[in-house]
Amino acid sequence: MDHTLPKYPHKSTQELRASLFLFRLLSRRFIVHTSLYVWQFLQSIRFPMKYLIRYTGYEQFCAGQDVSSCAPMAEKLAKYQVYSVLDYANEHATSVIDYDHNAAVVLETIEAAENNKAFPFAVVKPSAIGSFELYQKIGAGHKLTASEQLIWTAMQQRFDKLANAAAQATVVLMIDAEESWIQDGVDLLVLPLIVKYNCDKVVLALTIQLYLKDRNLVYKSLLKDADDKGYVLGVKLVRGAYMENERIRASALNLIAPVCETKDATDMQYRNALQNAMQAVDKHFCIVATHNQSDINWVVDYCSKNNISLGNTNLWFSQLYGMRDYISFSIAKQGANVFKYVPFGPLEQAVPYLIRRALENSAMKSQTLQECLMLKKELRLRKLNG
Ligand SMILES: Cc1cc2nc3c(=O)[nH]c(=O)nc-3n(C[C@H](O)[C@H](O)[C@H](O)COP(=O)(O)OP(=O)(O)OC[C@H]3O[C@@H](n4cnc5c(N)ncnc54)[C@H](O)[C@@H]3O)c2cc1C
Repeated sequence: MDHTLPKYPHKSTQELRASLFLFRLLSRRFIVHTSLYVWQFLQSIRFPMKYLIRYTGYEQFCAGQDVSSCAPMAEKLAKYQVYSVLDYANEHATSVIDYDHNAAVVLETIEAAENNKAFPFAVVKPSAIGSFELYQKIGAGHKLTASEQLIWTAMQQRFDKLANAAAQATVVLMIDAEESWIQDGVDLLVLPLIVKYNCDKVVLALTIQLYLKDRNLVYKSLLKDADDKGYVLGVKLVRGAYMENERIRASALNLIAPVCETKDATDMQYRNALQNAMQAVDKHFCIVATHNQSDINWVVDYCSKNNISLGNTNLWFSQLYGMRDYISFSIAKQGANVFKYVPFGPLEQAVPYLIRRALENSAMKSQTLQECLMLKKELRLRKLNG
């Protein structure tokens, strides 16, 4: 990494110290697990969590309680050509009231993206705007009852309304991927909308989780389908965030886990997907959503060897808010299109998201230690420079 490139230009020294403290805690699995139990206990007794907000990691990983409160942060990052995509942290909703509410919040983020360059895209989680059980049931090929069919139709309408709003606003709407066992159901709903809306530019971008063994085949067949039918494919390439749940479920049901057996196998799949994406980047849109420095270096090298501009509008890089800022700011400075994935929403709602981040950081110890190292370096540099 070029040491002259900016690493944390958006953070004060005090904020850097707070981040370092948090990442040090997150690198200790025992502390993370103990604090998760404490956290869950406090939730179960309905402790007013707002009093603890400073001690939860919320401010490190979430930008605010609602769309408008995230704007100052987004504008601060945009000064360094790092943009923000607001991700409403409310997953696994369970009632029509919640689905409608969540879809309305996503609409607000589409409007924000239309009116403010600091927000280039919007994002939606399928389980926030529709029934998890129905995605699963229909994806498994089971017949729906008459009342379920009505709920399914409402889910289709919600998605269509969001896609239509994104198309009107010329905003790309990304669709997150969640547990693999709902993906077939989500695809049934989303793939026809992609054909409908992505006629000559990307409106919907779906997420491909490369820790799933079959995903490169799926990706290739989507690229072919897009070429055959003449639409633009938009994808966000991720490794996948639900590994533990995937393994636990497969083992409980006596199934072979759909997730790669080793990290190396996932890495190989991810690199293959990047290769496919780069070969298609003149026509199709791709978001390289990873914190993995060697993948990012690989894409940067690929662009330079193949005369592809790093600022190609079909190529974006993204990291999560509060994580690997040193990567985001330095590739943005090199001319890449970069955005942070920025969760927002009330603390109570953001808990599952924060738990995933905490577990991920404690599991990927070497990455978390690297984060600490970069923070310490920056603090040392600032001290030297007065
Ligand atoms: C902008 C952005 C958007 C995202 N959106 C989504 C999304 O919609 N859906 C989603 O599921 N995730 C999403 N993620 C999270 C992502 O899937 C990863 O969990 C996270 O980014 C860590 O992976 P990495 O590529 O950054 O880094 P790395 O540290 O290189 O990889 C860690 C990942 O490797 C895989 N892995 C680790 N150990 C093993 C093992 N033993 N066997 C097999 N595989 C292993 C896991 O997927 C783990 O998360 C997103 C991430 C980013 C940055």
